[in-house]
Amino acid sequence: MTFTFQKLQKYLAEIKKNDKQGKKINAFLQLRDERELIEEAKKIDAKKNKGKLAGKIIAVKANINVKGLNISCASKVLENYKAPYDASVIEKIKKDDGLIIGIANMDEFACGSSGETSAFGPTRNPTNLELIPGGSSSGSAAAVAAGFCDDALVSDTGGSIRNPASHCGVVGIKPTYSSVSRYGLIDLSMSLDQIGTIAKSVEDAGLLLSVIQGKDEKDSISQGSKSLHPSPRPPTLNSRNMKNTIIGLLDLSGLNVDNRINNLVNEKITNIAKKNNWKIKKIKLNYVDLAVATYYPLVYVEFFSGTRKFDGRRFGKRIEEFAGEEVLRRILGGSEISKAEYGGRYYHKSLKAKKLIEKEFEKAFKNVDVIVSPTVPMFPWKIGKKISIEEGYAADALTSPANLAGICAISVPAGEINNIPVGMQIMCDKFQEEKMLEIAKVVEKIGSQ
Ligand code: GLN
Repeated sequence: MTFTFQKLQKYLAEIKKNDKQGKKINAFLQLRDERELIEEAKKIDAKKNKGKLAGKIIAVKANINVKGLNISCASKVLENYKAPYDASVIEKIKKDDGLIIGIANMDEFACGSSGETSAFGPTRNPTNLELIPGGSSSGSAAAVAAGFCDDALVSDTGGSIRNPASHCGVVGIKPTYSSVSRYGLIDLSMSLDQIGTIAKSVEDAGLLLSVIQGKDEKDSISQGSKSLHPSPRPPTLNSRNMKNTIIGLLDLSGLNVDNRINNLVNEKITNIAKKNNWKIKKIKLNYVDLAVATYYPLVYVEFFSGTRKFDGRRFGKRIEEFAGEEVLRRILGGSEISKAEYGGRYYHKSLKAKKLIEKEFEKAFKNVDVIVSPTVPMFPWKIGKKISIEEGYAADALTSPANLAGICAISVPAGEINNIPVGMQIMCDKFQEEKMLEIAKVVEKIGSQ
């Protein structure tokens, strides 16, 4: 079998043609040495007992440590940083014969929703080269959408997996908080960060997830997944009686969502529910309209505190001197609102609001199996377009609630409007990834028809 090797050749050719030249997608910050890759691919192909990920070519977001590679977080601050170790998720991928092809571009330190805050140039959306691919996992989603690799290993703090998956027309999973080890992830906001997956299909995204999830001694908060099927394939539709599925359709009043996007997602889920005899219930969640206002103070404070290690002595350069505008805004904002005179007013208020949002979801999941909404409330904008800070942050309105509640969520392509992909978000209760994936598979199948 030369499967991995052949696939690798195909992907490398495509990357050479269109990443820095041709379409100039700019999805990768670093590709691994070609000879090394080929050798590794051949080794995998020659193995008798192959791991679950044999044949999968995987890109890794530039904030997850892969030994020997340049994990820059797309920042000048870590421009020359070479990871001295593998993140736990990387160890698992290697053990299961996944082939890591390179390091993907992103918003600097995962701060952003467009891919434009990278210090190494924006990534283009492969479905429309003028548009942003979304972010912060911009290069990862673009790489999968452009046919540069099978999967990407990514992180999501307020939407960074689902947002670019939605804009690039691919699948992105943010698993339950704490279900995947964060050891080796360069954090943005430790109470919200979650490593997850991007792929072309729900099946592939689920397969990679099944490898990386689970308890890890190196991350004290990590827990074993109570639900994700341990088999190499995510469960098939027949594995569970889905007849009585109840879909919660999120009431979007109070949220600023483009009508065309809302209508497309509504129509799609209504049709799918009809075909499958699923019930649809409108779900009103209190406080979700406060998600963005709750999310940012938490991120500012935790990011500020996390970045104190980038002081120019231990890792890389001094962050205050070398970071871009958005990162500086968060550091300054975070230092300001953590000052003693504010007595934790903003941070603690946000923690309280976070709890309220979590409780709302808990209540809702007593009555419905999943909650559906659009993934992103607006269309991707043109690269370089001036966007206000508030407009940029508003991109997280529908994704950040899942991070605040700690639940799992997936973005699946729901269709296109003027050739621009639109994603449907399916949220599910904590550790209910299995159910979420089953429903997402049905949506994926019918959504593409
Ligand atoms: N857009 C959000 C932010 O800028 C989410 C980022 C993320 O999930 N890493 O913080």
